[in-house]
Formats: sequence, structure tokens, C-alpha cells
Amino acid sequence: MNYRSTRDTAKTPAYVSSAEAIKRGLAPDGGLYMPEKLPSLESSEINSLIEMSYDERAAYILSKFLTDYDKDALAADCKAAYSEERFEGGAAPLRHIDTSLYSLELWHGPTCAFKDMALQIMPRLLSRALTMTGERRLARILVATSGDTGKAALEGYRDVDGVDITVFYPVDGVSRMQKMQMTTQEGGNVNVCAVRGNFDDAQNGVKAIFSDAECARRAEEKGMFFSSANSINWGRLAPQIVYYVSAYCDLIADGKIKNGDKINVCVPTGNFGNIFAAFIARRMGLPIAKFICASNSNCVLTDFIRTGEYDRTREFFKTMSPSMDILISSNLERLIYMMSDAETTAGLMNELKVNGKYRVSDALHAEITSLFAGYCLNESETAGVIKDTLERDGYLIDPHTAVGLGCARKYIAETGDDTVTVVASTASPYKFAGDVCRSIGTEIPSDEPADILKALSNATGTDIPKPLARTLTLPVRFDKTADPADMPSVALGK
Ligand SMILES: *Cc1c(COP(=O)(O)O)cnc(C)c1O
Repeated sequence: MNYRSTRDTAKTPAYVSSAEAIKRGLAPDGGLYMPEKLPSLESSEINSLIEMSYDERAAYILSKFLTDYDKDALAADCKAAYSEERFEGGAAPLRHIDTSLYSLELWHGPTCAFKDMALQIMPRLLSRALTMTGERRLARILVATSGDTGKAALEGYRDVDGVDITVFYPVDGVSRMQKMQMTTQEGGNVNVCAVRGNFDDAQNGVKAIFSDAECARRAEEKGMFFSSANSINWGRLAPQIVYYVSAYCDLIADGKIKNGDKINVCVPTGNFGNIFAAFIARRMGLPIAKFICASNSNCVLTDFIRTGEYDRTREFFKTMSPSMDILISSNLERLIYMMSDAETTAGLMNELKVNGKYRVSDALHAEITSLFAGYCLNESETAGVIKDTLERDGYLIDPHTAVGLGCARKYIAETGDDTVTVVASTASPYKFAGDVCRSIGTEIPSDEPADILKALSNATGTDIPKPLARTLTLPVRFDKTADPADMPSVALGK
């Protein structure tokens, strides 16, 4: 299967293989790679997937997209990525909440957040892509992180052949737990460095390295090149399609639906990657009726779905669901492309760049609202959902999941739609234990991560996830702090 840029307006687009698309990440024209034509998923195939384990389902779905990859290699990679050792209790278990609502728990991986679902497999896909495209140089992954992505990338790239990884985080811009997770990182090909400044300083530093010819030349001399673990890489998107198919199979296996019945999907959304993966699953043939797009106070997507105008020129809020504190939802570009064409997409993305906003045509807006419903929750509503869900349903959730669940409940209250609804649960409550404690009225004894985790465990009778408990016991390996000006030499180190 060939891939093309969402902004490639040529009569004959510049197609690349899936290995090449994964190696490049972003297309040269600034667009995002998309399959030339989507593969289909028949209901008979869903029947056969019901019998399979998660890693087998993943290999089956991925092989439809990554046609240049060897099938046995994909199967081996999926088996290693989604092993019981990495995802205790299963990769994407489904839990009933109440009435028609189910929680798809995507946080059983090594960093307790849903980024693991893609980042445990994507580095393996990249490593193979390097071999398949004849690349001899080492790929050095550079990441600037505001917390979660850095840790998930470190765990994903750790000890993968042909790559190593350097993560920069703002010295005062991450939580104690996040810092501890990164500075104790294990693995032979990992490096972590704090940057004096905020997240923008760290991100600008990494961007500057990527665009600096001198840095590229010095990297070349050392037999390596810089690459990113960016969330717009097709290699991160494709693995996210799998768990929607998997959830559908599990609902059939549990007798909750029959094959062919429609379900709704609700996703707490930031960059629009996770919900877009569900949209792809629908286009392949998975029976999904509606997508509920859930946002926090940064409700740029809610407004877009309701009005047809995307406007990033607005106040930015820091919330307790920080992974959704985003004003540019990059993967929305892929939806627009799928519902229109490269010309329209390139035009709108240029407007976004120049004016900070764009408006889609009435026809395109109508197509979007026929499938997507946009809802948002403010901070006190989010805290209320965490508290109510624990008290009424005996289910402890993190703030991102609470935004999703709260939006699903608003949608149901407004529409009376009682279709079985799968809510993506994107992080363990222990990953945001301080805010969860405050939401449920549990006193926090100190700001030591160990004390906060224990307080949450004691108050709710739930266990601290093993990967987080383990982090508390590991020695610090990386304690370097650099000025932004020194980032190139850190990136070129060793
Ligand atoms: C990244 C992230 C999200 C948002 O997912 P997108 O694909 O960016 O929409 C939601 N919740 C958590 C916990 C995340 O880490």
C-alpha cells in the first residue's frame, strides 16, 4: 500500500511505501501521510478476530496497512510489544461502567497512559523501516516533552536496534512523578536532560536542532541522523486503529452486541489522533454510528464541530487533563483530507498558519456533524465526574477519562441515544494521583509522589500500578541540566 501527503496537490502524487512514510514522519510539503486507499474489514473477518489475542488482532490489522512489512516480522513485533509482561492484565481491556457505557482501558502499559499503545510498537516499526530502506545510519530520536510523551517514548525506544533516544524536559515544567519516571529510565540507548526554561524553550531547542544544517552535518559525521517521535507519524496512528476493532470483538464475545450492531465511541481528545484512528476503523467497515469528541476547557474542537470554524486564537488554559491542553489538533488535518481533497486541505492549513483560524464549507461541516458530536467539560465538572463515578459506579478514573465520560453522559442526556458507547480511558488515575485525590476529597499528606500514591490507594482500596510502584524504588540515572543554548551539544553527545 502506498502513502501520500494530505497536501500533495499534484495530478500524480508522490507516493511512498509505508516504511518510507514511517521513517519520514512528516511529508516534505508539511502534510501528513495517508494511505492511498483504505483497506476494508468485513464482518466475517471480525468473526475470526474474536478468537484472537490482542497481539494477533494487532498484527492482522497492521498488516493491512503495512503491506511492505513481512507478516511474520509484524506478528513477532506485536507479540513482543503487547506481551503480558508489558501490559499486565491485557493490552486494552473493556470494563462496564453503567447502562450503555463501557470504558476501554488503554493504560495498562509500562507508563500507565494510552501513548504506550502506539509507542510500544512504533519504534519496532521504525527500526524495521530503517533496514527496509537501506538506512545504515543510527536514528537518534529527539523529544521535547511536557511530561507524558517523553516517558512513553523512552520506554518504547529503549533497547530497540538502530535507534537511540534523547529526551529534553523543562526543569520546572513537569510533575515530581513525571520527573522521577524519566530520570530513573532504564535501557542502554536512552538519555534524559533537563532544560533551564519552560516547555516552549525545550521544544524550540529541539526544533532548532532539526533545522540546523551544522547540527545535521555533525550528526552525519558521527554516522547518525536526527528523527522525531512525533504523534503525526503514521506509525503511531495505525496501531491505534486496532483497539477499537478489539473492543468491538470483545463486546461481541461478551454477548453485549451482535456482529453488525452499531456502537458509539467517545474519546478525550487533544491532537485528534486517537479519535481519528476510530474514524479510520469506521471507514474500513467497523460499525460505528457516532463519535463523541470530548475536550476540556481548551474547547477548540467542540467549537469547530459545532460551528465549522477552527479558531486557535483564544486563551490557553492549564487544566488537570494536561495531555489535552492543545490548541492545534494536528491530526484534524487528516479528517479534513479524508472528507475533501488535498487542495482544500492545503488551503485550510495555510489559513491556519497565517490567520490562526479557518472555516470549512457548509457541505464539509454537514458531513462532520453527521458523524461527530463535540462536548466539553470545565475543571469543576471534571472533578465532579471523578467523584460521582467512584461513588456511584465504584470506578476510579483519571481526569482525561473523566472528561470523556462526562461528555458521553452529556451527549446521552441531550439525545437519549442508548447505543452501546465505548469511552476511551487514556490514563491510570495513579498517573494524576494528586488531582484525583483532590477531586474525591482525599487529603494529600505531602508532595512526595510516594505519599500521594499511597493516599489514593488507601482511600479507594485500589492497587498502585506496578510500573509506578517500581519507579519509586529505582535509582536516578540522569541528573544533567542544560541551558537551551547547550542542547545541540547534548543532542550530539556520545
Ligand atoms: C495524548 C493523550 C490524550 C489525547 O490524545 P490525542 O490522540 O492527542 O487526541 C488524551 N489523554 C491522555 C492521557 C493522553 O496522554
